[in-house]
Amino acid sequence: MNRRNFLEVLGLGGAILAFFRPKIALASSYVTVYDITMEGWSTLGSGFLGDDKVLTAAQIVAYKQIDLPYTQDDHGHHFTITTDMLSQILLAKTASTLTTYALDHRHEVRIKQSRRDMSSEGITIEIDENGIPIVPV
Ligand SMILES: [Zn+2]
Repeated sequence: MNRRNFLEVLGLGGAILAFFRPKIALASSYVTVYDITMEGWSTLGSGFLGDDKVLTAAQIVAYKQIDLPYTQDDHGHHFTITTDMLSQILLAKTASTLTTYALDHRHEVRIKQSRRDMSSEGITIEIDENGIPIVPV
């Protein structure tokens, strides 16, 4: 093999290696999530009103929009946890949303990392830099 052929083989080999190199998502990380007690807040200046339901770790990692009744009072409000909110939670940020109106008012639901139940069973998943779960294929 002369020098030129050798370099061509090297070049081709490099291209083949690059082609088969695994496609690894950049900036992915593993996070462990726990059940979180959601909080009901006033939108009229009365502050924290009380605890709402528990959002479970299983619901967080399922990463599907969730529609829930607001349980902190019995006015019949509902609220929606979007996948964008689930991403915020997976990124260890506070997520917040507003309920539907009932009796001429509505509430804010806050989902804070400080309300995690560290005694609940944690679930670890891989997420990308936007807090979107990476699903193995
Ligand atoms: Zn209410």
